[in-house]
Amino acid sequence: MNASLKQLTLAPMMLEPNRVWRFYTGGKMIDRFKGVPNPVDSLYPEEWVGSCVQATNPGEHFRLGEGLAVISAGLSEPVALKTIIETFPEEMLGAQHVRTYGANPALLVKLLDAAVRLIIHAHPTKAFARQHLNDCFGKTEAWFVLETRPEIADPYVLIAFREEVSRSRYKEMMLKNDIDEMMRVMHKVPVKAGDVVYVRAGVPHAIGAGIFMVELQEPTDYSIILEQTCPAYTFKQEECYLGLDPDITLSVIDHRVYTLEEVQRELVIKPHVLRKEGESVEVQLLGYDTTECFAGRRLEVKGKLSDDTAGRSSILIVLDGKGKLVHNFGEIPLERGVELFMPAAVGRHEFLTNSQVTLFKCLPAQA
Ligand SMILES: [Zn+2]
Repeated sequence: MNASLKQLTLAPMMLEPNRVWRFYTGGKMIDRFKGVPNPVDSLYPEEWVGSCVQATNPGEHFRLGEGLAVISAGLSEPVALKTIIETFPEEMLGAQHVRTYGANPALLVKLLDAAVRLIIHAHPTKAFARQHLNDCFGKTEAWFVLETRPEIADPYVLIAFREEVSRSRYKEMMLKNDIDEMMRVMHKVPVKAGDVVYVRAGVPHAIGAGIFMVELQEPTDYSIILEQTCPAYTFKQEECYLGLDPDITLSVIDHRVYTLEEVQRELVIKPHVLRKEGESVEVQLLGYDTTECFAGRRLEVKGKLSDDTAGRSSILIVLDGKGKLVHNFGEIPLERGVELFMPAAVGRHEFLTNSQVTLFKCLPAQA
């Protein structure tokens, strides 16, 4: 078993579908993206791609193992990706990564499709997680908008405070459930396909209705719930503050006032071309110059694009087009919706296509 598992770490790994229950509806766009017949919205609006993170849904919605990605291709029975990584950490994640983060992939990737506006929330910083949660990861995240629903006229996200809001005033709004006022004090930023938004840990935020995105995050499921009622669930007090004293948890919320220019400059990230090969390009959507937590790139392949894992793992999602990935031990057909975990041990590989194929490449925290 282990010998065949080890062999697997030399080639890209096909990821099985991995939808996760959440407290809001959506997911129709994920169904469509993955070619599922009769796409529908449901309470499974997220796909956790190559995840080694347990979903911590509240109350009776907690299910052990939910969120953990599974590999079955090439195996007699399915195995959790987390198990393979813990068995062969260096082959899977790379030696330098393992020295820094152990067998933690230091990345959580999601496809997220919101049919409704999500509740206003925030996430802890690394420093807070270290001090109060006994964890070295908080949850900085970033949004890469793939599509918006045509029936939504003005897709937007809410992010950061646009006026001075004292902690006591904000707490009052929360207690009164004054959602209009909570929304009013935040920036409402219009978004469209291709936009990239960086969400620093601590910054309050919410995704508007009708947005389908790739989301990159630190590898945790810590959320601080600021708006406690949503259509599918009403949070109990003890579910909102990471199990800690509310005042301690709310102290991590970033009350900095951003001007619209600061939001556009610091939180809306501009992509740029990293390299070209013939007509193919690798575009940096968000890089380590923004955060050490992860990087997101787009591979736009026309003809051929060579790549190398260079001793690091990555996750690939085929966004569009058709082609194949040729590696040292074979090849994998690529089409929209295919998701792959690329072990560090894969090394050099090539993307080939007769027309075009576009992939999203996710890289973990800088080691
Ligand atoms: Zn969030």
